[in-house]
Amino acid sequence: GGGPREVADRLAGEGIDVVRVTYPDLVGIDRARDVLVERLPDAVEHGLAFCRAVYHTSPQGDTADVAGGLDAGMPDIRVRPDLATLVPLPWEPGVAQCLGEAYEPDRDEPCPEGPREVLRRAVERLAGLGLTAVAGPELEYYLCDPDPGSPTGWRRYGGGPGSVYSAGRKGDPDGHLLRTLRYLRDLGLGVTMGNHEFGVGQFEINLDHSEALDAADRAFRFKAAVKEIARTEGRLATFMARPFNDDGGSGFHVHLSCVDATGHNVFASGDGDGLSDVARAAVAGVLEHAPALAALLNPTVNSYKRFGPDTLAPWLIDWGLDNRSAMVRIPPERGAATRIEVRLGDASANPYLGIAGLLAAVHLGVRDKLAAPPPLEGYGYDPAKAPVLPADLPSALGALAADHALAEVLGERFVASFLAYKRDEVARFGRHVTDWEFREYGYHL
Ligand code: GLU
Ligand code: MG
Ligand code: MG
Repeated sequence: GGGPREVADRLAGEGIDVVRVTYPDLVGIDRARDVLVERLPDAVEHGLAFCRAVYHTSPQGDTADVAGGLDAGMPDIRVRPDLATLVPLPWEPGVAQCLGEAYEPDRDEPCPEGPREVLRRAVERLAGLGLTAVAGPELEYYLCDPDPGSPTGWRRYGGGPGSVYSAGRKGDPDGHLLRTLRYLRDLGLGVTMGNHEFGVGQFEINLDHSEALDAADRAFRFKAAVKEIARTEGRLATFMARPFNDDGGSGFHVHLSCVDATGHNVFASGDGDGLSDVARAAVAGVLEHAPALAALLNPTVNSYKRFGPDTLAPWLIDWGLDNRSAMVRIPPERGAATRIEVRLGDASANPYLGIAGLLAAVHLGVRDKLAAPPPLEGYGYDPAKAPVLPADLPSALGALAADHALAEVLGERFVASFLAYKRDEVARFGRHVTDWEFREYGYHL
């Protein structure tokens, strides 16, 4: 406890001489500065200056034209360390990490496009209905070894196909999962378990459920930590939606429920199938806003290559009771554990924005008492039964731009910045000649 000076002294006494202040950019990349511990009090008082371009510059360095960006001379934002989130990094002796909160440079207000702030807005709107959202994230990723002979420089790690639902050396010859699980536990991220997934070198690690902002903080730190742990092994952990043509994609499934002021799970009911009207309205909100939600939960041009029939990723906008082919699955547990599992998201989503979108949709469904269609029975990939999800990122961005109810909850300025960034990404991709085109056209035409 205590002020920044006391915290700095305590850290120094624990052999920590650097604090890494990490915060999420618009697409969920961990942006950070390493601060010498003796400078921590100064950083807390004044914040760390970052160029606002961090909210509209792509990983390849392309800067989208966003209001308040280049036109305003690329002003600063100020990132204030949140000392309540300090934790030593188990793989980097002497370094502790904390989250940062992005503020406007000239006033005591969080940046409106800051992902934590966007999620906070959605949380507050649900609170207006007397509800607190509880979220449980599941994340899948592929682990890769360097391979100078591969066009990307990487190939899938591990022991080959057939290791789904395994742990141990068969699919994980170097013990990556065990090492990662232990580090993540020591980081205090509330991980529960992990296993090898369907794809070669694909892993899934589950996180405890908790209040939505805390769950998003943990999912964000989880992704950054897994990538960093892989780097200590000389490897790449990728949360890209569909990295390989001959294996399935990586999901970001979100388990969601809502509790009232007494802590009672309002998704539970004593009758019928055990789902309350509030749960059905929440499902209806997610279905109704799914095309726009795809822009937040499936935010890359690659994301739409994960969707498809028979993939265990969704393809249609539907829901079902314990049905993994549906976009929204209702896991079989009831009572206090009653929840919906939204399987729409892929691992490339910014966890804050994905969860914020879901909360906004739940808010709208519950507020407007939307009615859900009957749940899907059986096979979930028959397009005669339900609408198909957007086929590509431009369609999803169009749906987000048209979804004024969602934008009103998430914030107009954020939605405008997000759309500008993503439209620039789509345009850059559209101009890029891919290897597929040369194989299809270069030789034959
Ligand atoms: N990898 C699948 C997805 O993209 C999910 C597989 C599973 O059910 O765990 O969503
Ligand atoms: Mg899975
Ligand atoms: Mg799941």
